[in-house]
Amino acid sequence: MKRIFLPLLTLLVAGVFCAHAQVARPRLVVGIVVDQMRWDYLYQYENKWGADGFKRLLGEGYSCANTMIDYVPTITACGHASIFTGTTPAIHGIAGNSYVLNGHSTSSVKDTTVVGVGTQSSKGQRSPRNLLVTTIGDQMKLATYNKTKVIGVSLKDRAAILPAGHGADGAYWYDDDTHQFITSTYYRKDLPKWVKDFNKSNKKNLAKNVWNDRVGVTMTFGLAEAALKTEKLGADDVPDFLTISISTTDAAAHTYGAMADEMLPIYVQLDAELASLFKMLDKEVGRGQYLLFLTADHGGTYSEPHMRARHMPSGRIYTQDICVETNRRLRQQFGVDSLLKRQMGYTFYLNNEVIEKSGVDREAVKAAAVKIMGDRPEVMWAVDVERVNEASVPQEIRERIIKGYHRKRSGEIFVLPVTGTYSSGSVDDRGSNHGTWNQSDSHIPLLFYGWNVPHGETVALTHMTDIAATVCAMMHVQAPDGCLGQPILFK
Ligand SMILES: [Zn+2]
Repeated sequence: MKRIFLPLLTLLVAGVFCAHAQVARPRLVVGIVVDQMRWDYLYQYENKWGADGFKRLLGEGYSCANTMIDYVPTITACGHASIFTGTTPAIHGIAGNSYVLNGHSTSSVKDTTVVGVGTQSSKGQRSPRNLLVTTIGDQMKLATYNKTKVIGVSLKDRAAILPAGHGADGAYWYDDDTHQFITSTYYRKDLPKWVKDFNKSNKKNLAKNVWNDRVGVTMTFGLAEAALKTEKLGADDVPDFLTISISTTDAAAHTYGAMADEMLPIYVQLDAELASLFKMLDKEVGRGQYLLFLTADHGGTYSEPHMRARHMPSGRIYTQDICVETNRRLRQQFGVDSLLKRQMGYTFYLNNEVIEKSGVDREAVKAAAVKIMGDRPEVMWAVDVERVNEASVPQEIRERIIKGYHRKRSGEIFVLPVTGTYSSGSVDDRGSNHGTWNQSDSHIPLLFYGWNVPHGETVALTHMTDIAATVCAMMHVQAPDGCLGQPILFK
């Protein structure tokens, strides 16, 4: 009897053990995005960092020092969507901060089927519905039968909503009208008490310009820390996910320029806020128990005055003017008005209704527009994206155009300015911009820190889309369903 039952008993014990054994995962994942943070800021400001912020990440974490954005245009909504889905606009559908959806222009996270919570403003009409794929947080929820808690915070709506994903427990962004952090009915009916309390305690900061002043950095971290504590993120063995996106760094660079003196106090503040966040994570979650990554949604071009003063190549491009001028030339050629419908950033939309109605040859219009735009001195290439394989652009750039083009939401013509040239407001504007394929805009910092992350650095080519693949692989969670990236090997 004993002989027969012993193996059975062993199996039963093993079965019980297996049922309780859990795959090793961190208690919390924290994804930090610094809007418009160039990779070289890590070293530009190195002697300004304290011991416990960026220096802790660089000194103890793993730096992927050659991380590139693998699509164009390199702009905010595309970046936040790509980091957290591991794929590009061609697949996740966030083809710009704004783009055309069903024939109408829309912002990336606009959703008129929901209303704001904590505001009457239309800025509350936001949700992740335009995002066509799952995110890291969504996959964590799927893997844990929804036990994972996911929260996103940022000043910008899109930078809170897209990282947190479809299944998020909450996403909170700043409403300029009420000077408060708000959410929408997509997530919940009332603002949680901790957000209301934070808004009350934050009143002293309202007089300041949160977009261009370091107080915007402090506020965002303040809200994230309130979420961490009150929502008990990382308090048990089921991994939670907190996303924090810092928008002030972007707004200030657009105003003052990437290398302006005004940028320094903002980055010093960011460094100090990182240090206090790490301290809180050590205390609340436990050192080594959380996995953290820090990256950027895009970099930023050196501004034209800065480069001109140093005799280095730079220039400005006015894409709206190009749209008007191209339409004028097309009218001369085809006798039809408004053959281009609109321009958004570097992407130009054909007016397909007018083309159809007037009976002009669509391919001929497109070819003529590409020629007119491509002949301009500030344009390196104008590309018919539907025929991108016929364009004489380097393979690496061609691939980024394809990956950034959503065939139902993007324009048919994409313009790539001459290197160093960027889209600008006026000739007096000293602000920076971004959107191009160049190093300035597409080379981003990527630092991993904490749970199962060794200290080290690689200069091997890695991509923005590898981030989601890496985080999910480390946790043995299925990657987001549109993911094209590859897990990064820490060596
Ligand atoms: Zn941005």
